[in-house]
Amino acid sequence: MPMPEIQPAGGFSRRRLIFNIGGLGAAGLASIALAPRVARAGQTKLDQRSAAYQPTPKGRARCDNCTQWQTPDACKLVEGKINPAGWCVLYARKP
Ligand code: SF4
Repeated sequence: MPMPEIQPAGGFSRRRLIFNIGGLGAAGLASIALAPRVARAGQTKLDQRSAAYQPTPKGRARCDNCTQWQTPDACKLVEGKINPAGWCVLYARKP
């Protein structure tokens, strides 16, 4: 017997919601998971621990080739001094 679609007032179905979450990718899911921490603390950036920041690269992925990198030693998303050779779970390679 097929399950009936759940149709909340906004018009989202459970199937569509699952499909949309699947399309977010790891960085999107990490952002969703970490967002409440940022909101609770009233911060604009994540603390380094929450972002699993490390001062060393992960393979070829490093802060200075990430879209969030800000020279000389900062990040748009993670607070504190950031090593150009560092890495965190929010890494997004520059195009
Ligand atoms: S990997 Fe990117 S998002 Fe993470 S700390 Fe480095 S510059 Fe910021």
